Amino acid sequence: MAVKKIGRIVRRPGLKLGDPDIEVRVAEDLLSQPGVPTNNTDVDFYSRSYPLESHSITFSADREWVADNFEPEESALRQEHEGLLEPLVKAARASGEIEPQTKPAPNKNVTADIRRRAKELGFGEIGFTKFDRRYIYLSKKKWAKYDHAVCIAFEQDYERTQATPSTFAEFAHVGTYRTMSLACLILADYIRGLGYHAQVHSPTDNSGAYIPMFVEAGLGQLGANGQLLSPHFGSRARLMIISTDAIVTYDQPVDYGMHKLCQQCQVCINRCPGRAISREKVWWRGVLKNKLTYERCRPVMGHYTGCGVCMKVCPVQKYGMKPVLEHYIETGEVLGKGTHELEGFNVAGKGYFGPGELPHFDNEFFNIPHTTIEDHLFVQLKEKVASGKMPDGEAGVLAMMEFKEKLEKAITKSKQNLKQGKPDEG
Ligand code: SF4
Ligand code: SF4
Repeated sequence: MAVKKIGRIVRRPGLKLGDPDIEVRVAEDLLSQPGVPTNNTDVDFYSRSYPLESHSITFSADREWVADNFEPEESALRQEHEGLLEPLVKAARASGEIEPQTKPAPNKNVTADIRRRAKELGFGEIGFTKFDRRYIYLSKKKWAKYDHAVCIAFEQDYERTQATPSTFAEFAHVGTYRTMSLACLILADYIRGLGYHAQVHSPTDNSGAYIPMFVEAGLGQLGANGQLLSPHFGSRARLMIISTDAIVTYDQPVDYGMHKLCQQCQVCINRCPGRAISREKVWWRGVLKNKLTYERCRPVMGHYTGCGVCMKVCPVQKYGMKPVLEHYIETGEVLGKGTHELEGFNVAGKGYFGPGELPHFDNEFFNIPHTTIEDHLFVQLKEKVASGKMPDGEAGVLAMMEFKEKLEKAITKSKQNLKQGKPDEG
């Protein structure tokens, strides 16, 4: 007999084209509010005074550090991935400038057409909302065009994801990015064929924080792991956006009960090898969320193939939102919590960690650069001077010339990355 009262039944389109709608039953005590608790005054303030910026720009030194620390197999995978992705990133960068070759049908709303085509191309979650410039990176604010966002999510392979963290799982991650990038370019072409502009926002050369727009479009809620918990594939959703001037109808945010479920679950918080996720929700840039500490997460990602344990151990990812919510209604418990099946993971070189067990890392492990490459060169120079290792006289002049050369190279590289778009490894 069910121990929880049902508070709401959410109806969503099926996963594939032609699939029947699904119904998701949410227990009454999991209901809070649709979407994410947000203070719009604060979101406005932070976006104006402290605009978001891409990690690959603000933390370019740690990006380089991570690349230098890949194992040979991982490094080869990354290089192949970047090579294959580069033309797709370039095409996405140029997509907003392409003029549609036809005139749109007068006053025709094309929401259903785009939704159908996106499903045909393999996107599992599709929603429409305002293209919210408050979440766009400073370096992309002038680049980003058009007022409406088509939010589209592709499912990352299930089996491979369960082997996270590993190169085997990383194939799923980077492979999904390539497949969906191509599919999204095709979808953008389709929108142009309807007579409208379409700009592709890459899943890897991101133009901003995409999750808030997905939440606003009703495609899930923000999980404690910082990922979108979507109804069809939980945190295994990989995200892209097309911004467009097409006539579309916006969807509305939905309460799937994920806020309260996360508070009861906390599996990702307990299992994070970097102890990087805050147990309590905090207000951050106008949003109530479990805050991830980048400096605790990034070294683990760098050492262990992108980590991703927080995705792997999420029951909504592993079992699906509907079974997790049903199990909660029936038992009042979180499906899989405390089991090896859900919580267990392997860390290369350290072995298996079951429920209640975590790997130990010393302070040195977390000591990686957290600045731009340029700023990191200054940090190194300051350390050299402070330690008395900076020579005087001619040797000192040579050391300064060497510093200047490295700095010039770093500045040139940063400018190139900014201009051309560099596939993110995250
Ligand atoms: S990627 Fe790994 S270290 Fe980072 S938050 Fe997730 S589980 Fe923690
Ligand atoms: S593991 Fe649990 S707490 Fe973390 S995001 Fe998934 S449901 Fe929420």
